[in-house]
Amino acid sequence: MKTLKVLIGVIMFILSIYLFSYFRYKDTAFILVYHRIDKYSGGLRSLYVSPEVFEKQMKYLHFRGYKCISLDELVRRLKDKEKINKVFCITFDDGYADIKNAYEVLKKLGFKATVYLHMEAVKIGEYAYPHMPSAKMLNIDDLKEMKDVFYVGSHSVSHPDMSVLEKNDVVYEVSVSKRELENTFHKEIKHFCYPYGKVFKDYQQILQYSGYESAVTLKSDFIKLTDEIDLYQLPRIEWKHISSMSIKDFLKNFEFYLKILCGV
Ligand SMILES: [Zn+2]
Repeated sequence: MKTLKVLIGVIMFILSIYLFSYFRYKDTAFILVYHRIDKYSGGLRSLYVSPEVFEKQMKYLHFRGYKCISLDELVRRLKDKEKINKVFCITFDDGYADIKNAYEVLKKLGFKATVYLHMEAVKIGEYAYPHMPSAKMLNIDDLKEMKDVFYVGSHSVSHPDMSVLEKNDVVYEVSVSKRELENTFHKEIKHFCYPYGKVFKDYQQILQYSGYESAVTLKSDFIKLTDEIDLYQLPRIEWKHISSMSIKDFLKNFEFYLKILCGV
């Protein structure tokens, strides 16, 4: 009898967590942000996710029925106030060569991703992010070969902290990177990513005028359809590996883990 009571208690507890999650998160989508898809090779551990862990994360989301959509599609749905439940986007910052390690699993699952390119680093072929060792960057031919999975977005020309730049320099960073990428890929570049997640003054006006439809930050949150959505400050979630996650990281993303655990 006692066992039965415990069992009923456990079932009620799980059910109430699920119902709470369902009603709280059912109209939310999320954008994932990654930097390096490689085994740790020095510097900030938190910027690495190993190819094995990345594959497990993607397979888990696929298994739970989440649909990976392009940023174009997400922006369209947000503008049209269409349903966004159980959808997500994947983004990679800077354009490191090791995101090739993500290509096969994304292709196999039918997932798409946006790679925000740091123009100068891609031209030079390598880049040392602050507190990180120098890393090889993707080259343009790599991206053209993998265009069935990876879309390109702008991450500025020189990756500065744009919140402290003069307006002319901000306009240069957003417009020259867009123009160069469009000339290279013969495709309209519609999505921007703030270096270090730092938003600059008059961001909406400048990005809209330059022809961008969205911009992503490093603010950790879901995208909620009910909000007055700012398409030029979309939040993203950094799904780190448990070994590089602090308690603070865990608490910051607690609601994300709860949402995907419940599959809502
Ligand atoms: Zn960056």
